[in-house]
Amino acid sequence: MPDTIVLVEDEPRMARFLDALLSGHEFAVVHARTGGQGVVDVAQHNPVLVLLDLGLPDVDGLEVITRLRSWTDVPIVVLSARGAEQDKVRALDLGADDYLTKPFGAEELLARVRVALRHRARRQHEPESVIEVGDLRIDLPAHRVWRGEAPVVLTPTEFRLLVMLARNAGRVLTPSQILQEVWGQAFVRHTHYVRVHVSQLRRKIEPDPSRPTYILTETGVGYRFREP
Ligand code: CA
Repeated sequence: MPDTIVLVEDEPRMARFLDALLSGHEFAVVHARTGGQGVVDVAQHNPVLVLLDLGLPDVDGLEVITRLRSWTDVPIVVLSARGAEQDKVRALDLGADDYLTKPFGAEELLARVRVALRHRARRQHEPESVIEVGDLRIDLPAHRVWRGEAPVVLTPTEFRLLVMLARNAGRVLTPSQILQEVWGQAFVRHTHYVRVHVSQLRRKIEPDPSRPTYILTETGVGYRFREP
């Protein structure tokens, strides 16, 4: 049985492109043209992933995310228009896993799908004790970090931030998601904490902090940690 992806998209050309692409990569695609139908299809088909257009004819895509998140943690990747950074941030804060900006290429879409599915699989297993990305090695039980052979000295907050980013490697995270997890719910408005600590962390882990290769900035949306 192939894994099912529910595609919620009202534009026929985009839907045909996605359907052909995903079917060609051994997914079964269930196509919904409205948000309401999309929610029904997710309930009926138990998909491994939802691809969700934000501009739908019946309900807003953001409303679809809220409805889905009330009962399922299926990965949701949002399809959004260029320049709609606020919508992307809202979608992520409501529980979407990632987004793609239209127009996007086949490779970009498949990469996002792979990242979302990998994180879904990881949620179902024991968390790992060592994370290795590029030159970086993060030992979680020991609370220690190395860059190559050299130990990196981090404050407890920097360590928590690095672990959170690295555990979500490949996924975009908004400042509020980072604040909620690293500092706690009471701090979700203190977005400057994230900026300051990301820049401190970059100075400690990036070979060239002005051209980061680990903690990448997604302009107007948040940060994405490099994939292993
Ligand atoms: Ca649309």
